[in-house]
Amino acid sequence: MYTETPQEQVKELLHKAEEAFQYLKGRSAIDRAGLMYAIAAKIEGLGTELIATAMEESHLPEARLIGEKARTVFQWRSYADHIKDGLCFEARIDTAIPDRTPPKPDLRKIKVGVGPVVVFGASNFPFAFSTAGGDTASAIAAGCPVILKAHPGHPKTSALMAEAIFGAIKEEGWHDGIFSHIYGNSNESGAYLVQHPIVKSVAFTGSYGGGKALFDLANQRKEPIPVFAEMGSVNPVFALPEKMATDPRGLANQYLSSLTLGVGQFCTNPGVLIAVKGKDLETFKEVLRQEVLSCPPANMLHAGIAKAYHANSERMLTESTIRVIGKAEQIAAEGQGAALLVETDAKSVVENDALLEEVFGPFGLIVACESEEEMLNIADHIKGQLTITVAATEADAVRHSKLISLLQDKCGRLLFNGMPTGVEVCIAMQHGGPFPATTDARFTSVGSDAVQRFLRPISFQNWPNALLPDALKNENPLGIYRTVNSVLTKDASAL
Ligand code: NAP
Repeated sequence: MYTETPQEQVKELLHKAEEAFQYLKGRSAIDRAGLMYAIAAKIEGLGTELIATAMEESHLPEARLIGEKARTVFQWRSYADHIKDGLCFEARIDTAIPDRTPPKPDLRKIKVGVGPVVVFGASNFPFAFSTAGGDTASAIAAGCPVILKAHPGHPKTSALMAEAIFGAIKEEGWHDGIFSHIYGNSNESGAYLVQHPIVKSVAFTGSYGGGKALFDLANQRKEPIPVFAEMGSVNPVFALPEKMATDPRGLANQYLSSLTLGVGQFCTNPGVLIAVKGKDLETFKEVLRQEVLSCPPANMLHAGIAKAYHANSERMLTESTIRVIGKAEQIAAEGQGAALLVETDAKSVVENDALLEEVFGPFGLIVACESEEEMLNIADHIKGQLTITVAATEADAVRHSKLISLLQDKCGRLLFNGMPTGVEVCIAMQHGGPFPATTDARFTSVGSDAVQRFLRPISFQNWPNALLPDALKNENPLGIYRTVNSVLTKDASAL
């Protein structure tokens, strides 16, 4: 269906990316924003062929893909807007105090791109987290060329998106090494990229096994490099007693809709719900049991994901402490995933880590606790997560302040009611979390702060004004925000 890019050609592309990095250093962030707007317009201009191709390759419905395309265009535009005022480059200027003892030097710091970035396209968002997705947009915003490894699940969609980026780069007259598109159909092709000395950073979304393998390879290099891998998460929902008593039916419907959205193929899918035993939890489970019957099975993203879903849910069913609550009545055909809800008790999840592993798909585990104390034990036990939801009344939240404090140590985004599947693209979004949700909890892969992953600071000490980068010159020719002697300002008159 597609041909693996030969290693000789990959090498050439890597050298072109290295050259392009030097070229990018000579262009301002405002220039880069211009290129990003042009890329956004090209993607926006991709018509029915893109949607039809993605529908065929990913089995995602048209409406979802149209929405995802708009989100992708928005990412390029909003990250471009973000870099223009310079705030994200954190320019700091501390002017000299020559008559101090010892004399204080003139120090000026700015964040710059790290160098060529390898991006692994993700399968579950063929537009927004893949070839022209947020990782590619944020690396280019940071001033880093991108070498993109297409996800093998949607090679034609990837090629169409790559053509849009190539088209904008060519029409705007930029160096053609800024973006390269590579096909590989083995672990080796990805491993080669991560280990190549020209590569300075990696972005990945996918399985725990894949992300951790790439992270380990990057750390074994002579020159280790950062890997921003977003991996598995079960996104627990802690349903507190008063909330559960108030509306067990509403909560069950809300939970089931979120769990089955997009055949459960979201990294923020709420795979586990924890609550205290009692009649309200029984009502909640009964609604789930009834409603799940009519959930239709649907095609999953690709055959490998469907196979993994079946194998992982079968594995769960072999656990002696797992009982089935309910499942979709209609049997799933090959390549499809059907919703499945199971239950267990708190003691079992604390004793058996396998129960809290991600089953990527519409699989929900309800954990019944004997007491609120057991809920706290689970909170203490769970690993790092992208999101945790507290389904609560305000009185619940006040009563469970210790639980809520503990949950903050375990996730990147803590929700008060609602469900975590929607991930807003904005600067206050944190889409990342403590390991094993990601390999670096300090950063986000969604929202304009995603640019930070591909920046590093450099200080210039005692340099003549004319020889400084424009961002740090006294006269502030780029008109950006800078912290000058501890005051955030665009004003150049202080210097
Ligand atoms: P994946 O298997 O992790 O693959 C993602 C990308 O990484 C592919 O390009 C793959 O290329 C590469 N890769 C994987 N392992 C590698 C290794 N050891 N060395 C080098 N490259 C490697 O993810 P997927 O195909 O999208 O889906 C598989 C599973 O990932 C799903 O069943 C699900 O569990 C999980 N997943 C999780 C999320 C999430 O957001 N948490 C999203 C999507 C998928 P090659 O195949 O060519 O090696």
